Amino acid sequence: MSALSIPTLELSSGYQIPQFGFGTYKISAEDCVDAVKYALDLGIRHIDTAQMYHNEAEVGCAIEESGIPREEIFLTTKLNNDKHLPEDARQSFAQSLEDLRTDYVDLFLIHWPLPTLYGGDFVQTWRTLLEFEQEGRARTVGVSNFQIPHLERLLKETGVMPAVNQVEIHPHFANNQLRAFHREHNILTEAWSPLARGTIFGDEKVLSAAKRLGKTPAQVVLRWGIERGDVLFPKSVTPERIQENLDIFDFQLDEQTKVDLDSLDKGEDGRTGSHPDTMALL
Ligand code: NAD
Repeated sequence: MSALSIPTLELSSGYQIPQFGFGTYKISAEDCVDAVKYALDLGIRHIDTAQMYHNEAEVGCAIEESGIPREEIFLTTKLNNDKHLPEDARQSFAQSLEDLRTDYVDLFLIHWPLPTLYGGDFVQTWRTLLEFEQEGRARTVGVSNFQIPHLERLLKETGVMPAVNQVEIHPHFANNQLRAFHREHNILTEAWSPLARGTIFGDEKVLSAAKRLGKTPAQVVLRWGIERGDVLFPKSVTPERIQENLDIFDFQLDEQTKVDLDSLDKGEDGRTGSHPDTMALL
């Protein structure tokens, strides 16, 4: 394994993003410093957190304690659902920077579009993120969980498409229509829950591919996401699993595995998370 072989992709902002990173959803404050430091020690240079995860301070601490220069790490955080009003977004963004012990993030995202809240006005929130980008405090700005109509509305009303849309994607929910839209509009696709939150490992086709390729089910599923060109950041607090998840850059899927994993798409039934049109949790 060499973490140095993690590819980077170019964002529409011109910045580079490592295609593989470390997700921190549901990592408790207690576990977070050690887990992030372990990931950084292995050579992972991309960390995904969010105001909602209540671990930004621990992520900031881990980055500082790692001794790795800040500019070598790609750091993402996301705006909380109760902070969509412009002044709240400004205040919470400043707090994120303070908690993360940095004066900029590499990527700042609107976590959910919340089309049923705030009078459906996620456009004002997007305009506020564009301020952060102009100020250089967010090098790149984007969104998460946006559907095609939401993205079209941002373009129509502001003339600016997000550089990134972070959405649920794994073999049970391939989300291909949205990904095709992203490609047409130069939006980078980030795949959240790339392991389907651990629900996919018992699948027959995943197990037989793992056996044939001499890899673990998690490695086969992550490799599928990498070969499709998406950005992934699986989550684990277990050192062996963090290492295992990273160890996917020395093999390729065979044709049979690609066909088999592509065939696992269940469409909407494959979602593990909330639907973006109805998600309204503050
Ligand atoms: P995931 O698909 O990464 O799965 C994580 C679960 O799989 C863990 O609980 C762990 O128990 C298990 N696991 C991890 N590696 C394993 C291995 N090698 N073998 C066996 N089991 C293993 O799920 P996730 O954490 O929901 O998603 C990854 C990241 O995506 C999150 O941490 C977060 O950063 C991001 N995310 C974003 C959103 C969003 O709305 N933007 C939503 C969910 C997740």
